[in-house]
Amino acid sequence: MFVKWNLTKKCKMNCKFCHNALDRIGWDFDIDEDSVEKVVKKIGNASQLKGVSLLGGDPLEYEHILKVCKNLDTYRIPYGFITAGENIYTGKFDEIFSSKYCHFVGLSIDSSNKKTVKYIRGKDILNKQLGSLDHLLEIKKTNPNLKIHTNTILMNINKGEIIDTIQLFSSKNVNKIQILGYQNNSHSKDRFNINFSEELEFVLELSKFLNMQGYLLNRESLELCFLSEIGKDYLNSLLFDDNQITYGNSSVCPIFRESLFVSNDGFVYPCDAYKPYFEIDKYSQEPTKIYPVDNLREKSIDKIYNENEFFIDIKEKIMEKDLYSNWEPCNSCSHLMKNCFPCLLNEVNNKSNEVLIEKCKEYKFLLKS
Ligand code: SF4
Ligand code: SF4
Repeated sequence: MFVKWNLTKKCKMNCKFCHNALDRIGWDFDIDEDSVEKVVKKIGNASQLKGVSLLGGDPLEYEHILKVCKNLDTYRIPYGFITAGENIYTGKFDEIFSSKYCHFVGLSIDSSNKKTVKYIRGKDILNKQLGSLDHLLEIKKTNPNLKIHTNTILMNINKGEIIDTIQLFSSKNVNKIQILGYQNNSHSKDRFNINFSEELEFVLELSKFLNMQGYLLNRESLELCFLSEIGKDYLNSLLFDDNQITYGNSSVCPIFRESLFVSNDGFVYPCDAYKPYFEIDKYSQEPTKIYPVDNLREKSIDKIYNENEFFIDIKEKIMEKDLYSNWEPCNSCSHLMKNCFPCLLNEVNNKSNEVLIEKCKEYKFLLKS
């Protein structure tokens, strides 16, 4: 079991793509200091717990972050962070990152170009972020458990800079360079998504780079999360050598990985994006069922995972024999249920009987031609 804890909605950035833009300023609803130990203890008592990801907003902005980490240390729970890392370089969080239970930090850095970062984040922070990256790499020398990841979202605004950005992170020897897909959401101020032809243009550019200068890069560190598994097949078909792009588990819905999401105030959900309903009427788009949501301050994680109706129904759903049978081209794809478990929300959001994954259909066509 893996826990993703959205510790706070607080964040000092002003990102144009933020789904949290309305809440992040003046946010004051996180769990109080006294509840921290209670919640961490409950997480620590979960059977077969593999670790905790601390998310936000910016998890380092949570008022009692040091207390959270000290408690995670006490209960010997491995943990990691996803953060923009604006202030890590100051040394303010060294105690946290030096812990042997702190296993990863994912720094969200959008580009190696200062102007692009300033435009996206609403702040001129690239130098601070790179200072934080170097600072973490120094800490890593004395904390071998700590893995440093970077994550960069592929957007229409930075797509021409991603290869330079990959080269920069590669030169620093980070453990993982993740290139993520952009998720549209209704609260963002701008739209940064890319269409299939723009994605393909980037994939072709990347294949040229890998073929010409790929020896400069530790290819195993590169995780192309934005690209579907069949898209990775296509990219691999363009590479001259046997040093293929790795598949990883970026296309596996967390529900299949026994992950669960804890909100800043202790509520527990099987899916971060869809709560508290899972059943939606296909025609009216109204929720057909309202599920009870349990809180870690009252119940144990195992009890919630095994007895909450929302969890029971969703686990039944993923065991269905014909799950994905009406999904195109998934139903004929060799990756299905092996290294790809597509997001179930595609079905919920789809009004017709067939669920079409358009980019995969395009890659399938390219692979055949
Ligand atoms: S076709 Fe479906 S199963 Fe195959 S890679 Fe695409 S989303 Fe995954
Ligand atoms: S259903 Fe989709 S949004 Fe929900 S956990 Fe799975 S991949 Fe994430």
